[in-house]
Amino acid sequence: MHDNNSRKSTLLALAITCLSTPAIAGEGTVAFVGGRIIDGTGSAPVDNGVIISTDGRIVAVGPAASTPIPEGARQINVGGKTLIPGLINTHGHVGGVLGLESGHYNRGNVLRQLELYARYGITTVNSLGDDEFEGFEIRNEQNPVYINHSRLMVAGPVLAPATTAEAVRAVNGVADQSANFIKIRVDDNLGRSAKMAPEIYQTISDEAEKRGLPLAVHIYNLEDAKATLAAGADFIAHSVRDTAVDAEFIDGLKAADVCYSPTLTRELSTFVYESEPAFFSDPFFLKDVDPAVVATLREPERQQRMRDNPGAQHYKNIALPNAMSNLKLLSDAGVKIAMGTDSGPAARFQGYFEHLEMSMMVDAGMSPMQVLYSATGGAAECLGLNYLGTLEAGKWADIVVLDADPLADINNTKSVNQVWIAGNLVPTP
Ligand SMILES: [Zn+2]
Repeated sequence: MHDNNSRKSTLLALAITCLSTPAIAGEGTVAFVGGRIIDGTGSAPVDNGVIISTDGRIVAVGPAASTPIPEGARQINVGGKTLIPGLINTHGHVGGVLGLESGHYNRGNVLRQLELYARYGITTVNSLGDDEFEGFEIRNEQNPVYINHSRLMVAGPVLAPATTAEAVRAVNGVADQSANFIKIRVDDNLGRSAKMAPEIYQTISDEAEKRGLPLAVHIYNLEDAKATLAAGADFIAHSVRDTAVDAEFIDGLKAADVCYSPTLTRELSTFVYESEPAFFSDPFFLKDVDPAVVATLREPERQQRMRDNPGAQHYKNIALPNAMSNLKLLSDAGVKIAMGTDSGPAARFQGYFEHLEMSMMVDAGMSPMQVLYSATGGAAECLGLNYLGTLEAGKWADIVVLDADPLADINNTKSVNQVWIAGNLVPTP
């Protein structure tokens, strides 16, 4: 039992404590102390930095000398490490594939894949199509504070209406479920299928605009990229792969403030299993992959089929080289680049492929800083996520702790030591 006096003295003691040390941390305050901070805005890194997060949000970032650590904060020593924002994949697909088989869309598979992305430091994924009910459900129920798997955005089905009337219905159907994006394909798959007609995508674009939803477009040709951009596309979801981009396209992207997602690993995945890919011996790949999948991809007959496949060889010899040189042209011209992989379909390995993508973007001629920006602050801007993507006060504490500095070598993004989402440590199995 508390008598009145002891109550008073407790209150007095509390008051004195509060007066003498104003910066007392709450239970949910975490301080990351001593690391190199690359904040995702494109600014120069801060060495020996401190990041303070409270209840999952960053409240202070800066050099240790000028960023006091609140008393009682839980301290994480990250001396010698490099901290980057959680990586954002602006073009993935979540939930459909198990092993090498599609058709496995269910709640458990969506969650399993979001956990996989998270372990690789991919803390947000924009699933651009083939999203079903369970994906919307998981997107709706993800609590921004208690989440410890990759944050999910969804587009619903890739729309392929046959008439303009159907197009109106299709867009409204997806918009009524509060999809994050509308997704369409304007591509004939190297002549193997019919391409969506301009009046259909124009209707989709107009209707998406009315509903306030951004339109992401899968394209292959420069002409289709220009035409869909003119029709109001908000996000170019793949590289232009048939020819070199020109000034008209560059000016169009910049004038409309439209982002471009290269998905270089999508091209790679079409032919790389014709022989043993180098990454099959990368421990960072092997640590979280199903060995049965690797064994299947190693089968000699399967490799031979890929070598004999004209489509695969076209993507290898024409599409990927064009995609890489176009990325350099667009990046140099100041077009907004959004790191995206098209991972999720069979043999496009979620989590790992985002790191491979960033490495290929550097091979294409971007600097490591440009690539990191395209996967963090830049990606967030492209997806309209103003509460994510950078290590700045007010943003969610989505943080990847790396053992080595990715500015020295982009492949150091693979040195993932810890992943935090909204200040929650992502569990490792
Ligand atoms: Zn895709």
